[in-house]
Amino acid sequence: MRRKTKIIATLGPATQAPAAIRALILAGVNIFRLNMSHAAHDWAREVVATIRSVAVELQINVATLVDLQGPSIRTGDVEGKLTLTRGDVVEFRNAGLPASIPLSVTTNYDKLHEDVSVGDVMLVDNGEIHVRIRNIEEGRLTCEVLTDGLMGSRRHINLPGIRVNLPPLTDKDMLDIDLAAELDVDFIAISFVRDAGHIRTLRGQLQNRNCSARIVSKIEDQEAVKHLSEIIEESDAVMVARGDLGIEVYLEELPIVQRTILKECARIGRKVIVATHMLESMIENPVPTRAEVTDVANAVYEQADAVMVSGETSVGHYPVKCIEVLDRIATRMEREPGAGFSRQIELSNEKHFTVKSAVVLANSLENSILVIFTARGVLANYAAHQRPERADIFAFCPDEKIVRALLMNRGVTPFRMDFASQPEESIRIAIDFLKEKGLVETGHPVVIVSDVLNREFDTEAILLRKA
Ligand code: PEP
Repeated sequence: MRRKTKIIATLGPATQAPAAIRALILAGVNIFRLNMSHAAHDWAREVVATIRSVAVELQINVATLVDLQGPSIRTGDVEGKLTLTRGDVVEFRNAGLPASIPLSVTTNYDKLHEDVSVGDVMLVDNGEIHVRIRNIEEGRLTCEVLTDGLMGSRRHINLPGIRVNLPPLTDKDMLDIDLAAELDVDFIAISFVRDAGHIRTLRGQLQNRNCSARIVSKIEDQEAVKHLSEIIEESDAVMVARGDLGIEVYLEELPIVQRTILKECARIGRKVIVATHMLESMIENPVPTRAEVTDVANAVYEQADAVMVSGETSVGHYPVKCIEVLDRIATRMEREPGAGFSRQIELSNEKHFTVKSAVVLANSLENSILVIFTARGVLANYAAHQRPERADIFAFCPDEKIVRALLMNRGVTPFRMDFASQPEESIRIAIDFLKEKGLVETGHPVVIVSDVLNREFDTEAILLRKA
């Protein structure tokens, strides 16, 4: 059985060497993520070059994803760490203003006092420290500490349920978008997206730079949840970014929000990634917890396109083992019936219905595969969104960029291929290639879908052949 669920691995100090990247690809990574909260530009240039040369050497298609830091609110620098005890009063002030009490820290967001109200709770450092706002002045908040903790420099501040007026992209994001365009990466993730307008802003920036990277919208706060449908509609893919999301919504809501996102992506037909803390304990340990195994299995059951690991592969001690564990869980779980959210998919155009017919055919023929000849990847996307019950989808496409973009789709294995002048010739070459690679057995049914093979006239075709 081939694994359908795609694996995204974050690179970092533990995995930046060519040998580590090679081992991760061989273990099953489909997409490498560069987290721009930590990645320097020269480092990114070097690892992307390494990924590409190792992929060519191994003859395995691998894509790259640049994850923008986005407009996060952070504390400024403090000397040592501030010891906060329940009941203490702590101040958050604009940079440039003097401290008015001993427990005081600056923030990087000058308009914080305009967005919050007295009584609001702010969470600092991954939600570990809770403070309640008691007083607001121009450029200053005075807060009561609700939980004990140590507050260090540049800690992330979450404001659950509060709409902040930060711009969608920061100056740093703009420089990172320049880099993404320079490196011609396949995907770019936008952090703390709050509405569809933010995605249009990024798309405009990508167009200005002639960059064709697909946009992944990270759902990580309540504003994004509120505008879920419009965000998903506007995106190429969506990430359930559970790290921040788990701070921004009540913990018990997190699985519900995850499922809602998965269902909405299935309904509209967009790619979806489940991310963060999937195998967190494997940063330190060679085996996952039982709860982590079940969490990964749940994402596979919900038929996510991809699962993503962060610290597990960027700084963890067992990066390759993590990918092997994801691969084992996904491959096993995919043999069980999935959640079937895609049954609710909205089909609206002729291509949708053509693909639907092919998927129904493949579902009714034992051991069948779907073969799709595609120029822009559209038919392959549609086939993946309809989640064929068993059949693998093999997509053949002349454009390398499209081939890499298809690496995010559940169940799709894309290959680059120049089409022959005669449709029959392309079909024969593709089937022979799949047989040679052991991806289909002689005599098994091949359901072929194409809208590009016949150059004489514009037509969608479904053909049934035997391998
Ligand atoms: C997350 O919050 O889950 C996430 C993926 O974003 P980041 O790692 O950039 O915080």
